[in-house]
Amino acid sequence: MSPSLYTLIEASLPADRTRTAIEAPDRARGPRIWSFADLLATTSRYAALFSRLGLVRGDRVALQVEKSPEALAVYLACLRGGFVFLPMNIAYRADEVDYLIGNAEPALVICDPSVGTVVREICARRKMPHFFTLDSDAGGSFIDAAAEVTEEVEPAECSAEDLAAILYTSGTTGKPKGAMLTHGNLAANGLALRDAWRFTDADTLLHALPIFHAHGLFVACHCALLSGAKMIWLRKFDREDVIRELPRATVFMGVPTFYTRLLSGDDFCRAPVSHMRLFTSGSAPLLAETFEEFRARTGHAILERYGMTETGMNTSNPYEGERRPGTVGFPLPGVEVRVMSDEGELLAAGEVGGLQVRGPNVFRGYWRMPEKSAEEFVQGNWFKTGDVAMIDAEGYVHLVGRAKDLIISGGFNVYPKEIEELVDDMPEVLESAIVGVPHPDFGEAGVAVVVLRQGHFIDEADLLARLKDRLANYKVPKRVFFVEDLPRNTMGKVQKNLLREEYRMACGAGA
Ligand code: AMP
Repeated sequence: MSPSLYTLIEASLPADRTRTAIEAPDRARGPRIWSFADLLATTSRYAALFSRLGLVRGDRVALQVEKSPEALAVYLACLRGGFVFLPMNIAYRADEVDYLIGNAEPALVICDPSVGTVVREICARRKMPHFFTLDSDAGGSFIDAAAEVTEEVEPAECSAEDLAAILYTSGTTGKPKGAMLTHGNLAANGLALRDAWRFTDADTLLHALPIFHAHGLFVACHCALLSGAKMIWLRKFDREDVIRELPRATVFMGVPTFYTRLLSGDDFCRAPVSHMRLFTSGSAPLLAETFEEFRARTGHAILERYGMTETGMNTSNPYEGERRPGTVGFPLPGVEVRVMSDEGELLAAGEVGGLQVRGPNVFRGYWRMPEKSAEEFVQGNWFKTGDVAMIDAEGYVHLVGRAKDLIISGGFNVYPKEIEELVDDMPEVLESAIVGVPHPDFGEAGVAVVVLRQGHFIDEADLLARLKDRLANYKVPKRVFFVEDLPRNTMGKVQKNLLREEYRMACGAGA
């Protein structure tokens, strides 16, 4: 039996367990420091409490809390006891929480006191067996209950196929789907990343990502835990906090918006980061312009990687070797990728099509959705990522966009990214999104939603005229709208579904 992820993590920690695992700066109260011994002891107590409550292996534990070391210990306690971790975004509203709880049927729900009333009511109505707030509850919080636990429970023996976590995908369309990730998926991906990015126990990871998502929870925490590195644990991305903490870190992981925010002021420069070993980016496309500006300002080439909830990380730019802006690098060791036509033909280098992935990182399917899961796999265990991509002659993977964002105008395929890159290159433009909307003649047509740089101006006609010089006519958007900001989710992804809805009538169809 292969070791469970928990056993693997425990074996990877430094022999000296008094070393700091997590330091959580707190401007008001000073830093909270957890050694590896603290982390393991808390994890053990939480796992014992789960058993005391009557949870058995495979039971789901749902957690909707602010980021804290205790939240990480709840995750690790699930791994230790063979329970299935189900993190929920703290921003989810009652209906979303209700849907997830109804779908996943957790045996235990732990939430932040700030959402306690709402979640308690949902759990009561759905007759969920156990509900706690994490802390500060007059009725007795989870932390209070765990403080009374004295017994030790041995770590469960888990096989690679056993479920470790269910993460609901951001679900920009339709109902969220629970991606089932196994101990084997998470271990394989964690080890591949740790090695590819050369993590050791000499590292300090500045962790500013949320941990209800694969990026902050798996990519970041597994790299640190599987190498015994320390984490500086920020509750959320705050530009000032990040700039203050960077001098003590060796690695920083971000979504592209973290980098644009860091670059937004002149106080971010070479000095506080000259000693850093690595900056990584993912979850959304990093503009080549951001990559170049970051390099010019700091001397560091951001390492961009690509993954998704269902697969963990698939590709990464090289640690050694050229990190190419606008690409997501090569498949990680053990991971295979290929680009296929709509007809299921393997495409050659340079051709654009649907990206498929195969490897030990690929999830087991969607929770309680066997048909949906089966639809997403093709023969030979290849998973259809839904991303449109091209692999160049040197093997670098280029993402072109999500398949569902593809625009088919008058029968021709229009890839939004190609147009967005041209619009973004205009000196007046900060960023843009191209979305397809109903068109009376072409079926569908692109509209451009554009954010201008402060103090700059360009009008619709001028912008379109410039595009007409560079693009075949069918690719040129039919309308341009100027906005203050593009709508983004917490991971920095532009929510194109909202834009499609807002501009639905822009071309006179779509009623
Ligand atoms: P999620 O499941 O929320 O992690 O979202 C996964 C999706 O994010 C992928 O299918 C891609 O469309 C997108 N994504 C992740 N990393 C990148 C990247 N480096 N560049 C562009 N898109 C990315």
